[in-house]
Parts: sequence; structure tokens; C-alpha cells
Amino acid sequence: MSRYIATRAIRGAHAIVGEAASMLDKALSEKGADTPVSFPNTAYYLPLILGMTGREITKVGDLQSVVEQAKGLLHPVPPDRRWTPYLGETLDSGMATLLAEETIMALRFIYGLQPELMPGFALAGGTAFTSPDNGSGPSADGHLNGPIDDIQLRSWGIQLVDGRMPGFAAIVGCAKTNEVAVKIVRELQRRNILTFLSGNVNGRSIIHQLKEEGVELGYDTYTVPFGTDTESAIYALGFAVRSALTFGGMKGGQARNILLYNKNRVFAFVLALGEVDDLKYATAAGAINFGFPVIADTIIPEILPTGVTTYEHVVSMPFNEIEGADDLERAERLVQKCIEIRGVKVRVTEVPVPVPYGSAFEGEVVRKTDMRVEFGGKHSRAFEYLLMADLDEIEDGKIELVGPAFDDVPDQGAMDLGIIVKVAGRKMEKDFEPVLERQIHYFVNGASGIQHIGQRDIAWIRISHAAAEKGFNVKHFGEILHARFHAEFGSIVDKVQVTILTEPALHAEWLAKARQAYEERNVRIGSMTDESVDTFYSCTLCQSFAPNHVCMISPERLGLCGAYNWLDCKASYQINPTGPNQPIKKQTNLDPVKGYYSGVNEFALSASHQQVQEVSMYSIMENPMTACGCFECIAMVIPETNGIMVLSREDTSMSPAGMTFSTLAGMAGGGLQTPGIMGHGKFYILSPKFISADGGFKRVVWMSSILKEQMAEQLKEVAIREGDPDLIEKIADERVCTDVEGLVAYLAEKNHPAPNMPPIF
Ligand code: SF4
Ligand code: ZN
Repeated sequence: MSRYIATRAIRGAHAIVGEAASMLDKALSEKGADTPVSFPNTAYYLPLILGMTGREITKVGDLQSVVEQAKGLLHPVPPDRRWTPYLGETLDSGMATLLAEETIMALRFIYGLQPELMPGFALAGGTAFTSPDNGSGPSADGHLNGPIDDIQLRSWGIQLVDGRMPGFAAIVGCAKTNEVAVKIVRELQRRNILTFLSGNVNGRSIIHQLKEEGVELGYDTYTVPFGTDTESAIYALGFAVRSALTFGGMKGGQARNILLYNKNRVFAFVLALGEVDDLKYATAAGAINFGFPVIADTIIPEILPTGVTTYEHVVSMPFNEIEGADDLERAERLVQKCIEIRGVKVRVTEVPVPVPYGSAFEGEVVRKTDMRVEFGGKHSRAFEYLLMADLDEIEDGKIELVGPAFDDVPDQGAMDLGIIVKVAGRKMEKDFEPVLERQIHYFVNGASGIQHIGQRDIAWIRISHAAAEKGFNVKHFGEILHARFHAEFGSIVDKVQVTILTEPALHAEWLAKARQAYEERNVRIGSMTDESVDTFYSCTLCQSFAPNHVCMISPERLGLCGAYNWLDCKASYQINPTGPNQPIKKQTNLDPVKGYYSGVNEFALSASHQQVQEVSMYSIMENPMTACGCFECIAMVIPETNGIMVLSREDTSMSPAGMTFSTLAGMAGGGLQTPGIMGHGKFYILSPKFISADGGFKRVVWMSSILKEQMAEQLKEVAIREGDPDLIEKIADERVCTDVEGLVAYLAEKNHPAPNMPPIF
């Protein structure tokens, strides 16, 4: 154990615990002990404190015991002579530091100082304060990300658990140059390693560097800026704690298990760029508790293995001494070294394309000015069509271009394109075609410099100048699809053949064929009813978080997160028969109106650990389906109107129920049945089975405007189906009113049917 490191970590811990104590005193006197404290969008209170101490912190006063505990972990700073510090004391200091840092961040939230404001900064995708997963354009609020919310944790979690995403890198500090900063991040993205950014050196942070270089930061690019101070690195450890709680099934307070889970299961490391000060040493000591090694690009003493981390604890790799032709090569080596030290095999699907490839590039945007050529959009037509073929009919790996490449298209021009993917496999089924076809979007987007939007015959693909200069051409779409379908769907796909069409006559011919197939699929999915199948599917993916919750997924009711419909579950079950999507035989139909099936009830009873006796598939009033926390919408009865409101997760305004989404979410979630309130998927609103036992869609008296906009066309059709073509205009939204009085008046004025329907209860 290095005395130098111990000294500095212990000293850093003293300082930060002192700071937490004085901030707490200030908050107690200025705000009072009862002022609520929380991180946004998490059910895990202050996650590190919850995990390590079992304390569920909800108000300022609760933090007193945390600070006391942190003080108790402090040790005297070693005097210059005769004292040999032990690893245990350094680790204690690290833990004290983490407790103090989370306390400080929680208090900063009360003062509106978190997430950190950075003028001119824009996050790619949503922030914790808007919708985390809408993936739409950047929010221009100038805030860094702050802590990661539970939904994002879970959506990454699936990939973290199945190994597609190996883990995370917590970068603290500032790289040698902007160029090096970009290279490090690209190397991590290429390996699908989540990158958390925090800290600074003399006021300059890697976040500034990446921002200056125009690197998109946010959930969508796997590169999350926490804050420009060292304290914000606590969010990485809060994420680590929640991984153990969510996916490891651990409970708050099981500190040892949580730390071991991270050591053994979570591939993570800390990369300290630039000078390391006391607080960084102290925070690094905290990370070592989790088994996360610390790699510094400056000269610091190393700590060799003692068993706390898998290999070395602290490794020094002075940047200028790394072998390499230039700084970029040195940056690449540095990242490689980090991965070696953490000692986990990174699975990179080798995709033979001349640009970096990895899911981290999925969210990348290619702007018009950066674009070499586009397919689809305003000036051309691109379509993609995946179909099943017989095994002996196609040749695996054959990739053909029929028609010209884009060499003759002027810069920033457009061109027609068709991507025909034929797949064959003994376990392949026609039903999987749309599920696999939908993957084209994700797969193609994984290439750096390529942007893919849309699907079917409204696909829209851009190739950037940078990618084109590196030699990326249209045949590479085929290479990508071949590699990825084998890698991700190897259990159902044995052969993949891709044809890229640009030749006009063939393009037209295949476009017509594709459209016919889309139409057939629409009819098939649209015509599939709960009655037309004998099997529903479960989804228990969220049980790690809501242990008694199970989604029951039928053709007419998708999972409440919107990510799984019946066909997806069917495909998922084929791909992974012991996975979270199990078939449920409906068995006896006990009540066709309310949707009680003996098979569903039996499954619910056992999967909910005896918490749920019966589930009605189609009622919000009687034994409604439970919810975890991921629902896209909340439906809730508004008794005064004899109807229900539907509130979108993306709607932050007040609702006529007198509560916002986040408050209501607490009532709707947690795996309990609460009649009158229900979490559900967005598209369930369009289903003929939408609360059909309670009167169906006509009960909707208020709906977030964002839902009306996103589903305008489909809602029109629903209104016609319900025999009231003007129904959507009769439904209020937050622009009309956010209170019950206003709502009642609006319904009367518009002659909404709900008030005259039979009493809802
Ligand atoms: Fe969770 Fe239900 Fe979505 Fe499955 S379908 S991931 S259980 S919300
Ligand atoms: Zn969930």
C-alpha cells in the first residue's frame, strides 16, 4: 500500500466530509430538516447511501446520520514518519468520501445547483428532466446530465446483463488535448462501453474538450456528462449500486454483496486524466471499494493486487511515456490498457466496415452540411424489406449491389435505394420478419458517420463526408446486416443474404413487393386479436426492480414500457427459451368482457409471488394489470367526469388529477393492483381492447397533447371505429385545462360522451 496515496486519500476524505457537514448545517438552518431531498427519476432514494447503509433518505434531516457515519470512517492523516498506513484505512476514507459526495450532490439539488448548468451546452437525446428515452433532438437547456434515471438504467441494463454492453468507464479530469479526449471516447464507444464524464484539471474538463470538438454527449451516444467537478463522479457509483439492486436482486444495506457484485459482474474502471488531487485520490479510493481499478495518465504510485480489485488497484500510465507513433495511438493504447486491467473480455462484433462501429454510434446525427449523400427523405425513396427464404435458396454472406453506387451523385445529393435482406434458418418463422426487419435501423445506425431514421418504405439514410472519405459505400450496409444478424440472432438465423438496389426498374419492382408485404403484415397484426391466439406472453424483465410485477402481453395489449409486443415476445421466447418472455396458455376464458383467463391468473399468482390473485386484461376498475415503473402512460379515473385521463411520461405539466406524472407514477407502480389507476404502453390506447370492460376509448376525457400529436392519424381511426369521428377534439389536454372544474366544463361544452355513459364505478 502506498503511503503517499493513503495520505492523500485520507486527507481528501477529511476535507470533503467536512464540506458535507458544513453544507448540511447550512441547509438545515436555511431550508429546514423536513425539506425533501432526492435525485430525479429514481426509486432508489440516494442510491449509494441506500446501498451502502440501507438508509432511505427523503429529507434533509435524514442526512445527519449519513454525515455522522462518514465521520466515523475517517482515520487520522498519517504523520510523516513511522506510520504505515493500511489499505483498510484508505478504503474507509474512500467510502466516507462517497457518502459525503452523495450528500453534497443531494443538497445541491435543493439549491438548484444540479444538474450543472453549462452555457451553450446541449445534450443529445433527453435529459433526466425531459423524457430520457425519446431519442429526439437535443434539448437546449444547457444542463449537463446529472444522475442517470432508472428507466435509462433499465434500458441499458438489458445490454449490460447480456454482455452486449461490457460496462462503464468513469473518466475524471481533462485529457492532454482535445484530440486525445475525442480519441479516448471513440475507442470506448467502439467497444460499447458506457462513458461517464466528470471532473476537471484547473477548471478545464474533458466535457469542455468534447463539447468544443462537437462530440455529441448524452444517453444516445453512451457518453454521459455528469459534471465538471470531481464530486459528480458519485453518479457513476450510484449507477453501480443500482445495477446490483436492479439486476443482482440485492437490497439496500447489503453493502458487502453489492460491492462484490460490482467487482465480479460490473466491468468498470476509473480513468483519471491529468493531475490527481486529494479529492480525486479519495474518490478513487471509493471506487476501489467496488473493485473498480483506477488508471491515471500521470505519474502516481501504483497499488498492486491485494484482492479488492481483480488485478491492480491503481495503475500509472504517464501519457507521454505510452508507446505509440503519436498521441492518437497513445490514447488508443491507454484505453486498451484500461480494459486489460479490468480483465474482462470485450465482445466486439467485428463488422467489416471502414468506419468505427458500435451501438454507441446509434444516436449519431449526420447534419445536412456534413452529408455526402442521402437515401430517402425529401428527394428520394429508400426502403428496406426483410423476408424469409428457404435455406437452399440463398447464399450466406452474399452481398450484391444492383445498379450504380453513389460516385456520380453530386455532393449532398440524393439517390433511391432498396435494401433487401433474405434470411433463412431452421427456426426462422414468417412472424419474425418484422421483428428482424426493425433491427435494420439499429444495425445500420451503429456505423459511425451513418444515420438511419424510419423503417419500411420511409427509411432515410445519410452517409457523412467523413464516412465516405474513409471508403464507406452502399455495399457496407450489407456487411453490417450480415454480421449483426448472425451475432444477435444466431439462434434463429443461419443464413443472411443482402441485395442493395439502386437500379430504377428493379427498385420500383421490389418497392411494390415490399409494400404488399407491409400491408399484409399490417393486416395480420391488425387482424390479430386476443381471441385469435391461444397463448399470451409474460414479461418479467422488470422483476429485478419490481419483484412482483409481471406484464401480460397479448396481441391487443403490448407491454407497458412499449418495447415489447406479442410478436416481439414470441420471437424473444424462440431466441431465448428460458428468458423473461414465457408463453402463457390462456386456458379457460372465465370472463370474455373483463378478460379473465384461468391460465393468466395462474401465471400471475406464481410470478407475482402470490401477491396478485387475478388479472383482468381489459379493465382499469377491477384487478387491473400491475405496473413496474417503466410505463409510457398512466391512465387514471377522474370520478367527476365519469371518464379517465391518459397522461404521457413526456408530459411534465399538471394533470386534472391534481398531480404530475412523477407523483402519479409512485401510485401506479411497484407491482401492486390499484383499481382506478394503471400504467400502460402508448399504443394500447389504440387497441379495441383498451379498457374495453369499462367502456373503452370513449372514456378518455383528457389526454396529454403530445400523445394526440404523436398518434394523430391512428387516433382519428379510433374515433371513427368508436362511432364518433369528432371524438378527439372533444378530449381535453393540458393546453385546455389542468383542473377538474375546467375539464367538466369543457366536456359539457363539447358534448363529450363520457359523462352520459353508465357510471364507471
Ligand atoms: Fe418491463 Fe413490462 Fe417492458 Fe417487460 S414489458 S420490460 S416487464 S415494462
Ligand atoms: Zn418496468
